[in-house]
Amino acid sequence: MKPIQFNDLGAQYAALKEDIDKAIADVIAGAHFISGPQVEELEKALCDYTGRKYCVTCASGTDALHLPLMAMGVGPGDAVFVPAFTFYASSEVVSLCGATPVFVDSLPDTYDIDPDDLLKKIAAVKAEGKLNPRGIIAVDLFGLPADFTRLEPIAKENGLFLLEDAAQGFGGKIGARHACSFGDVSATSFFPAKALGCYGDGGAVFTDDEEMYKLLLSLRVHGKGSMKYDNIRVGLNSRLDTLQAAILLPKLAAFDVENAHRNGAAEKYAFQLKDHFAVPVIPEGFHSSFGYYTLRAKDEAQRTRAMDALKAAGVPSIIYYPRPLHLQKVYAPLGYKEGDLPVAESSSKTVFSLPMHGYITDEEIDYICGVLTGVE
Ligand SMILES: *Cc1c(COP(=O)(O)O)cnc(C)c1O
Repeated sequence: MKPIQFNDLGAQYAALKEDIDKAIADVIAGAHFISGPQVEELEKALCDYTGRKYCVTCASGTDALHLPLMAMGVGPGDAVFVPAFTFYASSEVVSLCGATPVFVDSLPDTYDIDPDDLLKKIAAVKAEGKLNPRGIIAVDLFGLPADFTRLEPIAKENGLFLLEDAAQGFGGKIGARHACSFGDVSATSFFPAKALGCYGDGGAVFTDDEEMYKLLLSLRVHGKGSMKYDNIRVGLNSRLDTLQAAILLPKLAAFDVENAHRNGAAEKYAFQLKDHFAVPVIPEGFHSSFGYYTLRAKDEAQRTRAMDALKAAGVPSIIYYPRPLHLQKVYAPLGYKEGDLPVAESSSKTVFSLPMHGYITDEEIDYICGVLTGVE
């Protein structure tokens, strides 16, 4: 057996090589490296896939979160509610705008934002009266959409915008609705390790709102007006390279087959591991794209034993995320302390993620499960 990889991009390239090589060669031959025709083609394909009206590709998933906050004029004095158990970019963009992230706890079974804790945090900010509650950023962690059936009405009732951080969520669903179609605006990432990744940095913003769409088009090219040398607002230089768009087109075409493979792999993992670790919970009507396959150990010591055993057996595993955001040094001035968000804190001490991708083999899964079922 060849060495097991966490995300085997080489296996994917081997499967899609002919199409990817041709796509790259076409871009080089066309020499239209910025805003080439493949960029619009991809945006249209992403709209078709997700069911959103508008898609604006950009330079990263982080920019895809930052651009809509800029479009909505989020700034100093604003409170934006963000889960603490996520990647830093989810709250970093709030801080970049000068606004204040207000951290919310997560659910212990799905790891997504806890709608009841969100309600408590909204009420607390209102009662305190110091910050203006502006919006919610909900993350589709590990590929599972956050509970938008509850989050959408909560946002509406409280006059808050709802931004879906679907950087890990692409391909997830609630009923017939696709990830990247929830809330007012959605952001995804094409970082190579994501379920739909390119060969560098990339991202996309999705919305049904035409005003927002027009603002996003301006903001991603230096706040342009009628053209690039007509500067009417402060924006970013945040375009997706034509090469990356061209590489993403054949990857998007293969996405459903890879997603089905990941879901099959998740079932096989769960079947063998469910008596040893807490396996992912997918609520009724929800579909995960399993960008990551995450287990919960019974305590930190068992997690250490499991990860040590995997390492000794040559199997990579990663902790997403070892420290929740409210306890990161950067947010020390906000005054959070240990115990404030107990589920996020216990999750960071007990979760670990296993190799998962669209080309993982039964042999690899059986080998990994063999190691893990031997862990006390
Ligand atoms: C990866 C990720 C991002 C940032 O995406 P980049 O393309 O790396 O900038 C944001 N939010 C979450 C939840 C992510 O996992």
